[in-house]
Amino acid sequence: MQDLRHVESSLRFAGVFAVLMLLPTGFLAYQALTTVRSEELSLDADLRARARGVATSIYADVEEIFGRFEQVALARLDAGGSPSVNPRELSPYLRAAFKFDGSGKLVAPFALPRRAPLAQPSPAWRRDARAAQQLELREPFRAAGAWRAVERESVRPGLRAEAVLGQVRAHMAARRFGAAKQAATRLAEEFPGVRGRHGFLMSTVGAFKVNEIAMRLAQRRGRGSDEARDAMEDLVVDLLSVRQWEIGQPGEAALAREAIRLLSGRSEREWLAARRSQLNRQVEQLQWAARVLHELDGVYYRVPAERQFRYLGANAGSAAVWALVRVSEDVFAFSFSIDDLRDELDTAVRRRSEAEPDLTARLRVIGEPPEGAFAVRSLGPWLPLVSLVVQPSDLEALRVSNNRRRTVRVGVVLTAVFVLVVGAYLVARMIALEVDGARQRADFAANVSHELRSPITQIRLKGEALQLGLAQPGPDMQEHFDAIVRESERLSRLVDNVLDFAAIERGAKRYHLRPDDPVPVVVAAVESARSSFEALGVAVVMELPEDLPPLWIDREALGQVLTNLLSNAAKYGAEGRYVRVAVEPREDGVEICVQDRGRGIGPDEQESVFDDFFRSSDPMVRRQKGTGIGLAIVRYIVEAHGGTIRVESAPGRGASFIITLPFEPPDGAGEPA
Ligand code: ADP
Repeated sequence: MQDLRHVESSLRFAGVFAVLMLLPTGFLAYQALTTVRSEELSLDADLRARARGVATSIYADVEEIFGRFEQVALARLDAGGSPSVNPRELSPYLRAAFKFDGSGKLVAPFALPRRAPLAQPSPAWRRDARAAQQLELREPFRAAGAWRAVERESVRPGLRAEAVLGQVRAHMAARRFGAAKQAATRLAEEFPGVRGRHGFLMSTVGAFKVNEIAMRLAQRRGRGSDEARDAMEDLVVDLLSVRQWEIGQPGEAALAREAIRLLSGRSEREWLAARRSQLNRQVEQLQWAARVLHELDGVYYRVPAERQFRYLGANAGSAAVWALVRVSEDVFAFSFSIDDLRDELDTAVRRRSEAEPDLTARLRVIGEPPEGAFAVRSLGPWLPLVSLVVQPSDLEALRVSNNRRRTVRVGVVLTAVFVLVVGAYLVARMIALEVDGARQRADFAANVSHELRSPITQIRLKGEALQLGLAQPGPDMQEHFDAIVRESERLSRLVDNVLDFAAIERGAKRYHLRPDDPVPVVVAAVESARSSFEALGVAVVMELPEDLPPLWIDREALGQVLTNLLSNAAKYGAEGRYVRVAVEPREDGVEICVQDRGRGIGPDEQESVFDDFFRSSDPMVRRQKGTGIGLAIVRYIVEAHGGTIRVESAPGRGASFIITLPFEPPDGAGEPA
């Protein structure tokens, strides 16, 4: 009963164990894996958020650049100022500002180039002009005449004007300033709007020469003539501020530069500096206008709403980003340098990338794939074709380190789970063994009580019959006495076995081995079992050797071995009606074999028959009374003699238990007990 309760509690323990160990293990593993995953996601999300932060701050830079520009530009327009006077004041990236009137005509700061081709001289004219030019150096007195001849030959006004200019130069080289001035005046007055071969407006060149000569004459006379200088200054102002330059024609700029050079040392220093920088700014704008001329053409047709800035996307070939705004009738087109903007953005991007070493930002022209991008931000409306891409500095390294981290963590979790599961398995196995042992012990207790009952009952019945005088004197009475003796023997065998087994389990069983002949022991055991065999109709055959050297044995224990084996042969082998007991000498010992022809033992059970409490699971076998300790005791005794025991059997063909005992004494044998 106690054992059964033990079994029950073991089972309960196993259930509790599963609930307390395996479920939490599974739960913890699940939690750990989801934590790994969510940490990974949060690292990723964090990097993406930082990438977005970088993109937003660079976007804010761009917004700031153009926001400031719009504010300053509108303020200047509202104040009636010209946006093209100093574009850099509106924005450091602004290269030029253009003004269109209501009809879409470019009115400031430059005019579109006129299509009229410049005069191309004939080869004859060229030759004569070259000859006249050479005379200017060698014989200046004759040069003026030569130029006059060229003038007469020229039909086109541009070429004629150049010939007049040649006369001016020749007279000056010959120091005939009066004649030079006269020719220059003629040049200034007779050729309005005419350009020479090199694009110069000849009348302006004439005016310049008149002033130059006047200044020379004044210098020669030794008194500084304010009049000549003032006239030259007026010309400079006219060239810089009044005259509308033509895109692609640098003539006015060149004349203005020359005039300023002549005035240096004569005019006021500040005035000169102001004109010089005005000239430089204008030249810069003129060059820029020539560069973006083809873009300028279409700009006007994208006119925005009043006071609303509109940005035109730079396309692959363009150098400029255009901002358009309309103020009443006029339309202003502001032209920014893409290169300058890009440089500025590159700097901003680099600055941010330095602050965020994990991230790299770059500018992307539309169409490029944003591979691996963590944040993409279009820079519209200002730079509609450019967007900003922020990505991890080293995508591959990031991927590798993520993978490594994941592998390590998942590995740790799986190892922990593995260890726990293996531990759980081992504990469960131990519990199963315990449960099994408990069940065997429970069976054993039941079997022993069962075994004890039948001899005791027999002895009591026969004894009572004798006491009451129920048995007839003679054979009947003798049969009663025999039965009492037989059952007592059986009882004492059983008790011996149980006590021996208990002693063996405790480790308290000792055997007293001395050299002796085993044959008489075998014969005695067979003889005492013979009557039981005969009652079952089993023939017992003995094969004994003639002569045998003595063996180291404990007679009583060896007798117990044989009694157990013979009792098994009677219980499980009786149907074969034949039992053979053989003693045979071998090379280094003696073999004792107990063979029957009964049901035999299956190969799967042959291993276990010598285990404590083992009983076959075959119901036919189980019908026989037994405790499962007989063969365990046999093996123990044989091993205590330094021998071995094995079973040879095939199901249905009987079993042979073969004991081998050595001639040599086992360790410790023969010592006084
Ligand atoms: P018990 O006989 O009390 O059951 P044993 O230890 O003597 O215990 O035997 C163990 C088991 O070995 C038996 O239950 C039986 O199944 C098997 N066995 C032993 N001897 C024989 C035999 N001669 N033939 C067939 N089976 C046997």
